[in-house]
Amino acid sequence: MALTLEENKSLVPYHTFGVQAQAAYFVEVSSEQDLPAILGLPHSPKLILGGGSNLFFTKDFPGLVIKNSIGGIRVKEEGSDWVIVEAGGGIVWHDLVMWTINKNYGGLENLSLIPGTVGAAPIQNIGAYGVEFDTVFEELTAFHMLTGEKVKFDRADCRFGYRDSVFKGAYKGKYIVTSVRIRLKKKNHVLALEYGDIRKILQERNIPEPTIKDVSDAVVMIRTSKLPDPAVIGNAGSFFKNPVMQEEFYEGLLSQYPDIPSYPVGKGQRKIPAAWLIEQAGWKGFRQGDAGVYDKHALVLVNHGSATGVEMHQLATAIKTSIEDIFGITLESEVNMI
Ligand SMILES: Cc1cc2nc3c(=O)[nH]c(=O)nc-3n(C[C@H](O)[C@H](O)[C@H](O)COP(=O)(O)OP(=O)(O)OC[C@H]3O[C@@H](n4cnc5c(N)ncnc54)[C@H](O)[C@@H]3O)c2cc1C
Repeated sequence: MALTLEENKSLVPYHTFGVQAQAAYFVEVSSEQDLPAILGLPHSPKLILGGGSNLFFTKDFPGLVIKNSIGGIRVKEEGSDWVIVEAGGGIVWHDLVMWTINKNYGGLENLSLIPGTVGAAPIQNIGAYGVEFDTVFEELTAFHMLTGEKVKFDRADCRFGYRDSVFKGAYKGKYIVTSVRIRLKKKNHVLALEYGDIRKILQERNIPEPTIKDVSDAVVMIRTSKLPDPAVIGNAGSFFKNPVMQEEFYEGLLSQYPDIPSYPVGKGQRKIPAAWLIEQAGWKGFRQGDAGVYDKHALVLVNHGSATGVEMHQLATAIKTSIEDIFGITLESEVNMI
């Protein structure tokens, strides 16, 4: 297929924060076959764009943005109670979740309605409501951005962590993920109901023996009531990661803040909700011009209309500094800042 290389392309329709930004060059890829030609283009740097729901443009992008639209969902292998599904990197994540639910393949239900594409899911090991992507991950196919070499990554290669993988570390910006394989269950589904209000909603709906579809519906309901819809208010979901700290540090905080919520995460460490810290620091609902903090969830920074990348960045920096000053905790960004 002939490729269309566009110049000075507005990125506003291609990311969820709604800040003005342009790509010097822009191309869309819809099949692996077109990749060698695209990766061979001289324009640099190159940035892979999925749904733009975890990207924060503080300025224009001076190189080539490659929009991944590689499609296709297929069953690759199956047994009596398991199935391996392969999906193209450009497939919308929630479309894949709905495809699996409709076939009664269990494993993705708690990850319903996370924005973005399949190819981006392994990048930050997406997670929600007690489940992380790596629990279903089998293998992915990627192309090296410089050499064009096609490579398979298994779980160990990906080095998954909390909102983390090798693609955010040593291999940051070095590969484009073109397809992902996941292993799901065809029966005897293991449901994760303890996180958030899932169980409460199922009880309210009088569903004592929920199906994966019931769990997915509950997750969708919770998410729509708590998180801003990027089509209405610009945002990129959680702006910061939940900080993880040693127990001793946490004990010190607990003596000062007896209400501080936390979760043990093993290895003598605890995770504290960044939203709680930001709310305590008085930022929830804050607004300056069009840059603000969502009034229903302090971890989500929002663009009420025409905030610039610089204004949003200033707000994020002010929040980070105040959390350091008050709690002695350095927040790390979850969004990818450009
Ligand atoms: C309202 C809202 C709620 C959210 N909730 C959650 C949540 O519950 N849990 C969660 O984990 N995340 C959440 N997010 C963040 C976001 O949905 C995920 O990070 C998602 O995986 C991003 O996908 P994307 O296709 O939009 O990636 P993009 O934003 O386009 O890209 C993100 C990063 O991945 C890279 N990338 C994208 N595609 C590829 C590829 N195919 N190959 C190589 N690199 C690639 C990009 O270069 C960039 O560095 C939320 C975001 C929003 C806006």
